Amino acid sequence: MTAKPAAAAARATVYGYPRQGQNRELKKAVEGYWKGRVSADALRQTAADLRRGTWQQLAEAGVHEVPTGDFSYYDHVLDTSVMVGAVPERHRDAVRADALDGYFAMARGTQDVAPLEMTKWFDTNYHYLVPELGPDTVFTADSAKQVAEFKEALALGHTPRPVLVGPVTYLLLAKAAPGVAADFEPLTLLDRLLPVYAEVLADLRAAGAEWVQLDEPALVQDRTPAELNAAARAYRELGGLTDRPKLLVASYFGRLGEALPVLAKAPVDGLALDFTETGAGNLDDLAAAGGLPGKRLVAGVVNGRNIWINDYEKSLATLGTLLGLADRVDVSASCSLLHVPLDAKAERDIDPQIARWLAFAKQKTAEIVTLAKGLASGTDAIAAELAANRADLASRADAAITRDPAVRARTAAITDADGRRSQPYAERTLAQRAHLGLPLLPTTTIGSFPQTTELRTARADLRAGRIDEAGYEERIKDEIREVLSFQEKAGIDVLVHGEPERNDMVQYFAEQLTGYLATQHGWVQSYGTRYVRPPVLAGDISRPEPMTVRWTAYAQSLTDRPVKGMLTGPVTMLAWSFVRDDQPLGETARQVALALRDEVNDLEANGTSVIQVDEPALRETLPLRAADHAAYLQWATESFRLSTSGVRPQTQIHTHMCYAEFGDIVQAIDDLDADVISLEAARSHMQVARELAAHGYPREAGPGVYDIHSPRIPSTEEAAALLRKGLEAIPATRLWVNPDCGLKTRGWPETRASLENLVAAAREIRAEL
Ligand code: GLN
Ligand code: ZN
Repeated sequence: MTAKPAAAAARATVYGYPRQGQNRELKKAVEGYWKGRVSADALRQTAADLRRGTWQQLAEAGVHEVPTGDFSYYDHVLDTSVMVGAVPERHRDAVRADALDGYFAMARGTQDVAPLEMTKWFDTNYHYLVPELGPDTVFTADSAKQVAEFKEALALGHTPRPVLVGPVTYLLLAKAAPGVAADFEPLTLLDRLLPVYAEVLADLRAAGAEWVQLDEPALVQDRTPAELNAAARAYRELGGLTDRPKLLVASYFGRLGEALPVLAKAPVDGLALDFTETGAGNLDDLAAAGGLPGKRLVAGVVNGRNIWINDYEKSLATLGTLLGLADRVDVSASCSLLHVPLDAKAERDIDPQIARWLAFAKQKTAEIVTLAKGLASGTDAIAAELAANRADLASRADAAITRDPAVRARTAAITDADGRRSQPYAERTLAQRAHLGLPLLPTTTIGSFPQTTELRTARADLRAGRIDEAGYEERIKDEIREVLSFQEKAGIDVLVHGEPERNDMVQYFAEQLTGYLATQHGWVQSYGTRYVRPPVLAGDISRPEPMTVRWTAYAQSLTDRPVKGMLTGPVTMLAWSFVRDDQPLGETARQVALALRDEVNDLEANGTSVIQVDEPALRETLPLRAADHAAYLQWATESFRLSTSGVRPQTQIHTHMCYAEFGDIVQAIDDLDADVISLEAARSHMQVARELAAHGYPREAGPGVYDIHSPRIPSTEEAAALLRKGLEAIPATRLWVNPDCGLKTRGWPETRASLENLVAAAREIRAEL
């Protein structure tokens, strides 16, 4: 190693980069390939061009070591399954016939076989394909993709560092394959998996890799002693290999905690740790563990999953402290830059005063390079950058948008009573029953109805100026009339207007709230070829005028039955946005809650007696460590109550959540103090109903009886059977009948038939009661 002081060796690196390209070229090429319009060779060429462009951009920005193997046609966990030969039995033929088509068959399924299950990548909005393993799984090494991409970068003159999902995280993310006992623990396959990783590492070494990165983000979650032992064993074994590349074990999305000493002691050559807000505690833990003598430390000081500029002085202070704790300190983002959009400079519609606070992947890369330079050569070497950074941060702290005195005064004046309804649920429910006059097992839907081509055309026409606001409004009203008349005919009890005016629900509200910004090109991969453009919650939140009242009131004017108002809750408004990092999340949630409270109250004042506030993100935003749950649930439930507690007892508040493991948050759901909750349940045969009952949930609930993720039409008998199951857990006085979720992705024919069957099933069961 070098004789220079540690600081002089400081290098800049990243763990991964957005894959899509500036104009989402990858999405277009992959989808074109699926449709047969793009050949396999053309797809491969597009991918290689994108990789080359990314590496070149990173190198030109001053990044010393570029990541390879992080690129993916669909998902890097699926790539790992291919790398270790964990191809499910049902996909083997497709893979054998054609590797690329087989790969996409695992990702998306085919006419005949189901795809792998998809789930959230830790607490991000990226989704990965869940490996399916069992006691009979035989792993075999396939290092072709990793080696090829490494060589590609090497040939272009870069210093590549292959990035792999680590073996422990891979197994901890896996689940029992279909047909295998559900309590099968994939981690028991570790001894079988390690030789495969050893082989891949040897292949990369043979190709010339000096360093290989193994990602172990699963170690920032609560882990049992057995799991920590497995991690120790894994890295003792891989570290003990002869003729291997140097190993950098990377952690991100939080504090390593008890896994830190395990990895620090392992015979590996370097560790990457999260030193941003989410990783708070890593610095102290590292010092307590005696640092990393003789090892390389990669310090994630730039937030890799939010879009705000770094605070250089703060980061340099952290880096300075770290210099005393490791042999060599390098600079990086806290995680792969996959979770942020590409380039803030592409946003031409954002006020330049605000744009200077934004850092997307490209800007974050420059920050990392600047910090590495500052660490290596002293702050004088980056004096100009430091001054500019200080000025940008100061402009944000002083800006009118981040400090609205009226909003601040309002949140400061919140009292406990504001978050409490005037009567407890037990009394309210009687008032609501009298007021609404609903039958037993009332039927309703979750909000959206099919988003037809005509609706999308109307929106495009409005944007392009082909129709004016009035013309657009007419088309929306036509749609509302159609949705209402169908529901009346079908015999649904609590109607909805169908949300035709909304494209994406969070975006719809963000556009109307002051303090939120929209981006033009801020695409982030959600899964596969699906990208989303999360709005930016940049400032203090207020609601200049009602957002939904017009549409809901119009729908109510068409019918005597109750029309349910439809809003998105504060937790979800935060979870599906890039949220400000200059104040606690709870404070931001309270601001959003007060804006929604005004909307809820206005809906009520305009004749709406049932109001649903969706919180599909409540469970998914739960922090990774159990120790952090209580603080989160405290502000999450409080902000929901704040938005919904301003109404009279006879006004019924609903909430809705999509599929999730609810077992550990039933208390929190109860703490929302909503009157009715609808939940996804059809696929799990009413499992959530049993979970709610097991925890003594005392309120009304509608476990879904129609799986809206599939075009399949549930028969009346099928829906009735699910309702009977539901009744075993929830009494008839508290059971609602509804689909799993909104219908916006469905077509009209199946929606019609399914909802008619759902009503028929409810009537059948009512007659039996
Ligand atoms: N009300 C929304 C809809 O029906 C709920 C969507 C959701 O839960 N993600 O589309
Ligand atoms: Zn849902």
